[in-house]
Amino acid sequence: MLKKATGIGLCSGVRVGAGNLVLSHIQFADDLLVFSDANAMSLKTFSRVLKISELVAGLKLNLKKSKIFGINVDENMINSWALSINCGWASLPSSYLGLPLGHKRNSISLWQPVVWTKFNLVSRAGNTVADLIDKLIASFVWKGNSDRGIYWLNWRTVCGLKSRGVWGYLILEPEIHLCLTSGFGASVRRVKAFGKIIVAKYNYNPQSLLPKEVSLRSYSWVWRSIVNPVASQVGNLRADFIHIMGNGENIDFWNDCWSEANSLKLSFPRIYGLACKKSGMIYEFGVWSNGIWEWKIELRRGMFEWENVLWMSFLVVVNNVVSLVPAADKLKWVRSSDGRYTPKGFCNFVASLGKMEDPVWKAVWCKYVPPKVAELVWKAMNQRLPVIPVLIKRGVHISDQPLCPFCNSWPESINHILFHCQSVWQIWQ
Ligand SMILES: [Zn+2]
Repeated sequence: MLKKATGIGLCSGVRVGAGNLVLSHIQFADDLLVFSDANAMSLKTFSRVLKISELVAGLKLNLKKSKIFGINVDENMINSWALSINCGWASLPSSYLGLPLGHKRNSISLWQPVVWTKFNLVSRAGNTVADLIDKLIASFVWKGNSDRGIYWLNWRTVCGLKSRGVWGYLILEPEIHLCLTSGFGASVRRVKAFGKIIVAKYNYNPQSLLPKEVSLRSYSWVWRSIVNPVASQVGNLRADFIHIMGNGENIDFWNDCWSEANSLKLSFPRIYGLACKKSGMIYEFGVWSNGIWEWKIELRRGMFEWENVLWMSFLVVVNNVVSLVPAADKLKWVRSSDGRYTPKGFCNFVASLGKMEDPVWKAVWCKYVPPKVAELVWKAMNQRLPVIPVLIKRGVHISDQPLCPFCNSWPESINHILFHCQSVWQIWQ
């Protein structure tokens, strides 16, 4: 009924993107979100439709629990409309189904419920959320339940992969994003309503496997921060996703990276210049004939002799990656052995950037070693055990003599206490 009322123009809905997608409502379980232009007539009609559906379905609509939210609309007007249809009104930011709605990007208030309920920590002005969460983990690690603690190692040194001698925490930085978009094409086709809205709003080709970068600041920051780290040509992440040709229906022939590290348009600009067809999916550039793919790439003119070499190398490149069977096109993530993207694999990859792997750490962080022991060895290898001279240096007064408490004849150092002390050596023997 809502669709019909919108279709015949009784309700207005809202237009998404440049296309003609009109969004009138989204439904989740028994929850209903209705969208409308700021127009009293349209609201009235929506309320009438809902009343009729109440009568037809026998389900009671609780107007006391329903609210109108105005976006760029005068509050007095919203108030009077709410009164006229007997429901409440509110303003953004708010929450829907427990999720935040309309908050500013990464505002502390947005993350407050997550961070504070868990750790009960007082905010400090000027911190970013990522700083704050790092700080929380750091103080949890070094202080435990006590009020004070010694921060033995720089937090950046602690974070990273266990196989690289660190604890396996990742530093939360703005550039670390999870590539939620790697299954974009499939999601668009599977989650139809949401997919249609995204495609219409950002003017995407619904056939694409990866969404394109979103540059306008007026677009949603949520979508921008999901999509840009993957889609951006600036970062390296884009190159980590390669399109694998199947039937060629979902890969852009000239612009997607499916044959080499670069797109064909960038690798072969001269041939792109000569091509009659400058856009389209792979399947528009050839045919399957008796189960074998044949290219049909038309050029504006014949090749000069000196261009033949270029043409041949172009054909080698495209023939090299032609699919043998017309299955579905897919994405391959080059950072994993099986080509499948997983958030865990991504975290491991990000943590490994710029770090050398030392096999000795694998022995330290072995799963058969109790965590307490592994931690002790890890601290000893980083020269961070609380031996007396170090504690004195850090202002912890423990003894006047920085001597080993076992033999009382040598200064207590990590090497001494673990390897050289006569008394300790008896244990090792
Ligand atoms: Zn000793």
